[in-house]
Amino acid sequence: MSTLSITNLGVVVGDQEIVKGLDLEVSSGQVHAVMGPNGSGKSTLANAIMGRPGYQITSGSIELDGQDLCSLPTWQRAQMGLFLAMQYPTEVPGVSVRETLELALQARGLDQIDVASRLDEEAQSIGLRTELLERALNVDLSGGEKKRNETAQLAVLVPQIAVLDELDSGLDIDALRSCAERIEIMTNDGLGVLCITHYHRLLDHLAADQVHILVDGQIVESGGPELAKELEANGYSRFITSEQEPDGVSVAIGGAAREGQSSGPDLEDPFADPLA
Ligand code: ADP
Ligand code: MG
Repeated sequence: MSTLSITNLGVVVGDQEIVKGLDLEVSSGQVHAVMGPNGSGKSTLANAIMGRPGYQITSGSIELDGQDLCSLPTWQRAQMGLFLAMQYPTEVPGVSVRETLELALQARGLDQIDVASRLDEEAQSIGLRTELLERALNVDLSGGEKKRNETAQLAVLVPQIAVLDELDSGLDIDALRSCAERIEIMTNDGLGVLCITHYHRLLDHLAADQVHILVDGQIVESGGPELAKELEANGYSRFITSEQEPDGVSVAIGGAAREGQSSGPDLEDPFADPLA
């Protein structure tokens, strides 16, 4: 049993405070979804949890099973059983997925036997062509292939807690279903998930215990899966006050999204009916 506890977390990027006093707890077997408009700080939260350089913790704590992570480098957090599927997975020329996983398993003192065949098996189960596993990590993969690649790595690594930053972006409906269903099975075996998403579709296959709405670096509401459905229907406007709405930040999802200047992804719904 593992618990990731985030208490009163403040994160500064550059000279801007992005996450502003956030509390969140994810335990083994649970799925917590975080949803919020572009630029609300979702990826900043994910990066801070994983200890990405440049994300400065200014208040509060991030603990895994009572051990404070904030002073630890990323590799040590991974060694303790944290995993981050990045919104934009990094390309690593010259290093294969298999080598990466062997090193990661070795670092955690886990069995590295048959990594190649375990990876092949996981790739096949989520419809990732196994010849793509021969390539250097994420190099020359499409957006959707990268996301499937991350899911296959997750399934071989079996971390305690996985943070999934928009795993669904770039995935077609079939790939989304197979990746989400694979992760759902992992949660039944004890994986805890913090799942950042814009769309309830992911949550149709990966059942969320709780949904949290993140606006301007703060969780403004938490509830059950019905909250994700409400967002899909009505957007974020109910959760945003005029002071919280910086210029250009989209406050709705799907076709109702406004043009944004944020560095985040386009909020246009990739699954929307093109004829609608
Ligand atoms: P979200 O994932 O919710 O769309 P982000 O956490 O990516 O939002 O971004 C929140 C804000 O922090 C944005 O204004 C973004 O420009 C800024 N930000 C995030 N990461 C960086 C970075 N590495 N350098 C500069 N600004 C950043
Ligand atoms: Mg993001």
